[in-house]
Amino acid sequence: MDYRRGVVTGESVWRAILLYGANSATYKFAFGATLLEAAATGRNHVTLEELAPRYAELLCEALQRQPRQGTSARSKFLDTCRAFNAGELDRDMLHRRTVQLGFSNVVDAFPKLGGDQAPLSYYEDQRRNSAAPGLVLRDELLELAGSVHAQDLDAETAARWRLVETAWATGISDGVLGPSLVYDPDQQALVLQSKQRRRSVTGVVAALNGYQDGRCAYCNELMTQNVGSGPIVEHVLPWKLLTRLWRGPDVDAIWNLVLACWSCNNAKGGRAPHETWMPWLEQRNNDLIESRHPLREVLMAQTGATTAERHDTLKLAYRRATELLPTVWTPPVAGHRA
Ligand SMILES: [Zn+2]
Repeated sequence: MDYRRGVVTGESVWRAILLYGANSATYKFAFGATLLEAAATGRNHVTLEELAPRYAELLCEALQRQPRQGTSARSKFLDTCRAFNAGELDRDMLHRRTVQLGFSNVVDAFPKLGGDQAPLSYYEDQRRNSAAPGLVLRDELLELAGSVHAQDLDAETAARWRLVETAWATGISDGVLGPSLVYDPDQQALVLQSKQRRRSVTGVVAALNGYQDGRCAYCNELMTQNVGSGPIVEHVLPWKLLTRLWRGPDVDAIWNLVLACWSCNNAKGGRAPHETWMPWLEQRNNDLIESRHPLREVLMAQTGATTAERHDTLKLAYRRATELLPTVWTPPVAGHRA
């Protein structure tokens, strides 16, 4: 991703904050979404009283979806949200308690990346300013909220939120999902598969878009939701290998899925990309693993626990794929990020 590759933009740092790093509670997702919405109105100052209703609403909804929203046993604020959901508290009281309890850690923690201050900030903390208490929203945030990618950022945050809470709900202690998370091509979604049932967790586009900076995996052009620019979920090693004498890892799995624009997807057809492009995929998978992404375990189970193992797995899969389907496709900018 851009930021990790040294390009600091409002968008890349935002993605780093929300898509990378370990999670101990889901407040930052609710807070990020609330901030973006507040900034979309164009105002540059908000009070906690103004942020509280939406912020609490997102967390109350999340608790209804999934009772576990943090790794610590108790949280006064989450208990308040639970009490509201149970009808034991009215909306006014919920908002008042949210102002008292809900922001204490998240306002300080949000602008941090791996313990350090992020290279740019989205607001100034003026909570102690008695004349105008609240947060001053900086231009970086206002621009982000007004950009064509604001919706993508929102969807990416929601996708990571679903993955994190699903990982906790499956009871795996360090918050990662095992190989029971599979790709459903009909829904283009990640699906949690148990013996009893399949349950859709989140869309693949939203789950992967941020890790490609919203750019096509092959031509590096920015993708928007418009018809013509994608993004479409793309099998790097073609899906039709599964109908041949394929001996290799499941190609219908996250390690082999990328997002591409319509024109690259069309041009590629049922071919593998040229070998020189493949380091991009290897790097993308390594980025996801390093990001503490809930898909980390899935990727490691599919392709190997170490970078060396994953390199070999990918090389072997590529060789076998091109033995069966020897005609390859050269992307417009081969190996542009390798
Ligand atoms: Zn493209």
